[in-house]
Amino acid sequence: MPLTLVLCIFIIIAASFAHRKWYNAKLRQKRLATPLSDREWAIIIDQVPLCQKLPHDLRAKLSGKINLFLHQVEFLGCNELEVTEEMELSIAAQACLLIVNTDTWYDTLQTILIYPGAFKSISKEYDGYVVREREVVRLGESWARGPVILSWAHAAEGAFVDDDGHNVVLHEFAHQIDGLSGHTDGAPVLAKDHKFSEWQRTLNEAYNRLIFNTEMGRKTFLDSYGATAPQEFFAVAVEVFFERPTALKQEEPAVYAQMSKYFQLDPSKWD
Ligand SMILES: [Zn+2]
Repeated sequence: MPLTLVLCIFIIIAASFAHRKWYNAKLRQKRLATPLSDREWAIIIDQVPLCQKLPHDLRAKLSGKINLFLHQVEFLGCNELEVTEEMELSIAAQACLLIVNTDTWYDTLQTILIYPGAFKSISKEYDGYVVREREVVRLGESWARGPVILSWAHAAEGAFVDDDGHNVVLHEFAHQIDGLSGHTDGAPVLAKDHKFSEWQRTLNEAYNRLIFNTEMGRKTFLDSYGATAPQEFFAVAVEVFFERPTALKQEEPAVYAQMSKYFQLDPSKWD
């Protein structure tokens, strides 16, 4: 094949890739700039009252991000559940609330599976070369670079009661953003001006405090489930950061400050 022909084919392929990239970026910007309708926003406020507390400038951002999220993600009902617009908007709104003011995005998320209620899952436990599998009942699950699985009954209640510090959707999407670093370990990718050493020291200290108090049988502010692993501590702290911000600021001020810096939000002032 003559060299000029090879060069032409290479240029055409490169131009086609560049055009596709440009088109996708344009489409993304358009979707981020397209607000939800008043009707959709009313459904969100009804399902996720926490969104009503958002400052006005963040509402517009949230609206565009929900729009982009809904174009990217497919919702599938399990056990004959029929997925409704309310379910999609509620879950999308809560997922996007976590990333409303940062550049973080759910790049790898394509599917959300929704069960009507708690669902059965297989838990694997590793003991050296031995892997034990057992059936567990879950309210939610998040797979790194894979789907989020939710019980709608618990997702709806978690969103509706927005001041008890328990929210399965925020919890599972905290795992999703944690996993974007390549490891779901309670250490998400931080902004350039956010020191990892400070994040790690603050969260580790609070995590160890929670383990100690849980082992001592003391009543703890953060759910004791957070004492099971650093990634669970992060997810539990995220639930409380959004649903009981003032109390978290009081009980664990350093954790609140780190979370506030990470999410670029100060929910303690939303009321
Ligand atoms: Zn978890």
